[in-house]
Amino acid sequence: LDLARPDIREMQAYSSARMEASGGTVLLNANESARPPSFPGGDGLNRYPDPQPRALVETLAELYGSTPDRVLVTRGSDEAIDLLTRAFCRAGQDGIVISPPTFGMYAVCARIQGAAVVEAPLAADGSLDADTLVAAAGPSTKLVYLCSPNNPTGNLVGLGTIERIATALAGRALLVVDEAYAEFAGTPSATQLIDAHENVAVLRTLSKAWSLAGARVGTLVARAEVIGLLRRIIPPYPLPSPCVDAALAALGYEGRRVQRHHVHEVLNERARMAAALATVPGVREVLPSHANFLAVRFADPAGAYQRLLSAGVVVRDITKYPGLGDALRITIGTGNENDRVLAVLRAGASA
Ligand code: PLP
Repeated sequence: LDLARPDIREMQAYSSARMEASGGTVLLNANESARPPSFPGGDGLNRYPDPQPRALVETLAELYGSTPDRVLVTRGSDEAIDLLTRAFCRAGQDGIVISPPTFGMYAVCARIQGAAVVEAPLAADGSLDADTLVAAAGPSTKLVYLCSPNNPTGNLVGLGTIERIATALAGRALLVVDEAYAEFAGTPSATQLIDAHENVAVLRTLSKAWSLAGARVGTLVARAEVIGLLRRIIPPYPLPSPCVDAALAALGYEGRRVQRHHVHEVLNERARMAAALATVPGVREVLPSHANFLAVRFADPAGAYQRLLSAGVVVRDITKYPGLGDALRITIGTGNENDRVLAVLRAGASA
């Protein structure tokens, strides 16, 4: 991995003088309006946001068991995936390895960048095949993605397996562990491997368990050298200031209490839905899930999708994903929303 990348210069969007500005400092370096907008709550919106707000970086570092120098806050983890691809994969030369069926953005970003995408499919039982994944990483592989819990299957990869893969890839490729749904699994984070394994990077997000998909707050946790490189290519202001405020509120004492409650609710509903769906005629299998969704195999997935849609319930058709030709992905909603899914599917089955 070329961490130096002398061809990439830091964008000097936010001067250090400005970062250290105190209340009395006159800010005339960024062509902002000196006047705030007229509407209530608009104070401060005339100013560009801090590119990496210190309070949020420190809070996220604590939340994810890391340190501020190992944290990059991004516009959703989607942006972190894009940055990793652009930083490490040269068009026409480098590539990534993924384990399909998995989250689509890894391959999308790679293809836009002109990087090769090598596939190391999940095993037939839906588990990650560590040996296949490592074997798929060739000399031009720069990034290896491992999504745990995996979207859209919900399967989890243990920390021991992740560590073995990191060891096997040492000095060759960065192992990017996407933990977007980790709060629903409750297992230890791969961030704790970063001390011993310099080639581990972890993606986290506030979009799922923290109820902030609309605020777009993602985090990459990695060695300071990796973070330093990405800081040089990240667009100047990834996070609008209202999103930073929302994130800090969500991560405050009351926000954390509510988050625990919401996660608990999802876990209860996930167990209830998995058991109930398994008894619906026409349901072939409910894949065991450690996330806030269930992949469900149907005898007639297109029919089930249409019946749900006609009843005003939108689920995800994942029949194009390899190995999931008969499956729909159903997010865990509120109790009432989940009851509606069950009612529609039961009614359809008896029709
Ligand atoms: N990673 C996985 C596995 C996801 O499923 C998603 C969103 O669905 C993301 C990343 C992107 O999340 P964000 O909202 O942080 O961009």
